[in-house]
Amino acid sequence: MPEILEVEMARALIEERALGRPVASVYAPDAWFLKRGLTAAAARRALRGRTFVAARRRGKLLLVDTDDDGPTLGLHLGMSGRVLIDDHAAGDPLLYASNRDAPEWRRFGVRFADGGSMYLRDPRRLGAVELDPDEGRLGVDAFAVTRAQLRDMLRPSRAPVKAVLMDQARIAGLGNLLTDEALWRAGIDPARAANTLDDDVARLHRAILTTLRVLGRRGGSHTGDHMPSRFAGAHCPRDGAPLERRTVAGRTTFSCPVHQR
Ligand SMILES: [Zn+2]
Repeated sequence: MPEILEVEMARALIEERALGRPVASVYAPDAWFLKRGLTAAAARRALRGRTFVAARRRGKLLLVDTDDDGPTLGLHLGMSGRVLIDDHAAGDPLLYASNRDAPEWRRFGVRFADGGSMYLRDPRRLGAVELDPDEGRLGVDAFAVTRAQLRDMLRPSRAPVKAVLMDQARIAGLGNLLTDEALWRAGIDPARAANTLDDDVARLHRAILTTLRVLGRRGGSHTGDHMPSRFAGAHCPRDGAPLERRTVAGRTTFSCPVHQR
């Protein structure tokens, strides 16, 4: 499932290949995929003749700005979405459930005047497209979070620390895998109440940034040291203890009862 690292790869692909190419037509066959009142006709009116000038990201939300203060195209990759530009995709193709390119999986796209294209392909159809998304509903981007910001969001909450880390309105971009990896690296129990972290906040902050940097370099959120142990009966790669499998913050969670406290 795309987390912040996969979305960042898609953002970089758009930046590298889609900017500066005038949009000739808009392909929006799936009304359900258009969100917050957007219609195919409105998307056409808003984007036709425009040029993409910047590709940004906040958490897992992709933001593509258009020229002359035109609208910003917001793309959500959902559970299985990938961006295809001139039929190139970012990220490791082996990880995706299917790399077939069934035409009906192309939920939204544009054709450029030069004959190329940008599509959002999404077999599971849980992504979305909107115009001028409300970026303020998302918290600070996980790549940019400071230790003080992390402390301020954890201190008042009695929720499990994992729930706070996955709350996109507080810190944007961390999904289930990255959160479990960061907590495993930091030696913090995912179910521990956020307001008890105190002196452990600095270690958690470092672990989040290290996780993003290292896994980003390796190629995605599935490349963590903790990742191969996400199955029943697995042992902790650090100390060999049997891992605990629980539901925390509504998500399947693997953690080590020995070194994660
Ligand atoms: Zn352990």
